[in-house]
Amino acid sequence: MGALTDMKLEGVLCEFCGVYIGDEVSYPRKCKECQRAEKEAFSAELGEIAKDVEIAALRGKITQLESIINEIRAWLKSGAILTAKDPSGKLLEFDDNGEFISNIIGEISLPRK
Ligand SMILES: [Zn+2]
Repeated sequence: MGALTDMKLEGVLCEFCGVYIGDEVSYPRKCKECQRAEKEAFSAELGEIAKDVEIAALRGKITQLESIINEIRAWLKSGAILTAKDPSGKLLEFDDNGEFISNIIGEISLPRK
């Protein structure tokens, strides 16, 4: 192996950019600048993952809301008052015109005639 490679493996030079760090430590290491850049890249990557998860969660909520709305439409055809759960698990009550009546805390109940 070349001298530069040896010095990188021994931690004398930054394993990434090759800048001089200091005395031999017997393991490869990165200079402060490269550590900072790596942390920033990692944070950015985490941020992207968090955003993806958030978007997926929002899409899930929209799907849940759509299924609630479809449920409401089906029940309204039978002239019922409907209770349904919103995505946070809160119960919602609608009258026979599909107007929102209230948030209900408790068990979901069968539609009332
Ligand atoms: Zn470096």
